Amino acid sequence: MTDTPSREHRDFIRQRIDEDRKNGRFGGELRTRFPPEPNGYLHIGHAKSICLNFGLGQEYGTPVHLRFDDTNPEKENQEFVDSIQADIRWLGFDWGEHLYFASDNFDTLYEDAVALVKKGLAYVDELDAEQMAEYRGTIHSPGKDSPFRDRPVEENLELLEKMKRGEMDEGSAVLRAKIDMAHPNLNMRDPAMYRVRKVHHHRTGDTWSIYPMYDWAHGQCDSYEGITHSLCTLEFEHHRPLYDWFLENLGRHHPQQIEFARLNVNYTVLSKRKLLQLVEGEHVEGWSDPRMPTVSGMRRRGVPAASIRKFCEHIGVARFNAVHDLGLFENFIRDELNESAQRRMGVFDPVELVITDWPEGKVDMVDATNNPQDESAGKRTVPFTGTLLVEREDFREDAPRKWHRLAIGKEVRFRYGYYVTVNEVEKDAEGRVTRLLATHDPESRGGNTPDERKVRGTIHWVSKEHAVRCEALNYDRLFSVENPNEVPEPSADGCEPTWLDNLNPDSLVKGEVFAEPSVLDMPVGAAFQFERKGYYCADSVHSNVGAPVFNLTVRLRDSWAKIEKKLGGG
Ligand code: ATP
Ligand code: MG
Repeated sequence: MTDTPSREHRDFIRQRIDEDRKNGRFGGELRTRFPPEPNGYLHIGHAKSICLNFGLGQEYGTPVHLRFDDTNPEKENQEFVDSIQADIRWLGFDWGEHLYFASDNFDTLYEDAVALVKKGLAYVDELDAEQMAEYRGTIHSPGKDSPFRDRPVEENLELLEKMKRGEMDEGSAVLRAKIDMAHPNLNMRDPAMYRVRKVHHHRTGDTWSIYPMYDWAHGQCDSYEGITHSLCTLEFEHHRPLYDWFLENLGRHHPQQIEFARLNVNYTVLSKRKLLQLVEGEHVEGWSDPRMPTVSGMRRRGVPAASIRKFCEHIGVARFNAVHDLGLFENFIRDELNESAQRRMGVFDPVELVITDWPEGKVDMVDATNNPQDESAGKRTVPFTGTLLVEREDFREDAPRKWHRLAIGKEVRFRYGYYVTVNEVEKDAEGRVTRLLATHDPESRGGNTPDERKVRGTIHWVSKEHAVRCEALNYDRLFSVENPNEVPEPSADGCEPTWLDNLNPDSLVKGEVFAEPSVLDMPVGAAFQFERKGYYCADSVHSNVGAPVFNLTVRLRDSWAKIEKKLGGG
């Protein structure tokens, strides 16, 4: 991959790694990992972590582990495992042979727990959840010791064994580390290591009746795999002392944890719990809905993987949390597609234009450039005829100053076709334009004339008889407010609003497009530009052979809207 940061702009993580390598720490090795929990699909925030960890692997030529943190079986399943792998590959990264599951370590984790019990550093507690919360204290007050805290080692071993064999009820007992109930860091107040959960696990089946807590499994798995630099988001900073405590007391390899800020983007949510709610409440069409901030949603929408990598690289890693502008991400998508996407013509809101001096029945196949930014993309032919469709908005009866599109008496270039001048307008009883009558200059075929007279405007068109009528799914942002997590004020009728009330009711506007025939050849998921309108791709779910349905990837910036704004609404 070419889009890696230059050596001069080293962020604090890369500086730290360079320093450790120079000092021969971890034998000068680097080993990073990406540790998703298979309880949902990956989103753009995960993409940042993926680009960071796998990016480091590429820069330093070291393997990167993919480890599923599958310690919470109720919420996890194989569908999520599969989607996560597909998404990482699509983003352009590979873990090679280094695929791991926390559940592969359940035996080792248990043995380590037994070792801590034997050292007098863990105990089985039988306080109920409510009592346990009460004993924990608060940030301002110390907690107090559980009456079960000083059980003899033998009794703890026996009880832990009983928990494991499924002889204890859910909620009746937990294994806790014995650290310090007055510790200023609440994570150090005898955190739970195992709880009883009699549920089926998608990999270990019904073998286990106890499951490790995230904080017990996470640092341990990093250690077992020989991870050198464990990169995680800021909220884990206060868990680091706990991971260190476990590993020190077990005498195990000790990775260096480094925290960085989460990626946040406005007009969307990145909490997996909320994304799941959108899916389960059918507010969207599943995890891969093109409006979702998920990797699979973006892929289905036509967003190129490279634009996601470049966006993540641009944002870089920082130590403070910030919310990034969705518009910034869209610019990365446009920049990428401007370089790579093919062009096609399609008319979204058509009005008929008849060329009155066109030879009866003539079909002229004109050459069109597939991508002006990339000659190797070649050319195609498009049928030009005497009855065309053009965008209704491209014609103005009272043309304003600086208007270079269609107006009576104004010569305009029909892209790849001819110079055309509208002479007459036909309207219905309501005064709505029904047809434009025009003439053309036969000498201007291909878009130029021998006298090289100036024509400022160029518009797109399709031949009416050849046009393919397709459905267009025009997407907008999923939420109508910048921060959808902020619950709106209660309404006058006393209804209690939730964050779901921030959903944008117009996030999907169904429309249609009359497209040139060659759109039928566009591969599913590959974005192309409908010239002057926006980037679209054939949808992988709703398209049928010969009847594609097009997803809007991102709109082009509208140049006339900009001029109009400058002219003060003109
Ligand atoms: P959960 O609440 O389910 O734990 P999560 O978003 O933390 O949600 P994980 O599957 O645990 O999901 O995340 C895997 C990795 O991705 C973690 O290392 C986490 O730090 C990182 N990650 C998750 N969200 C973001 C984000 N918004 N920005 C950067 N990294 C993220
Ligand atoms: Mg997490």
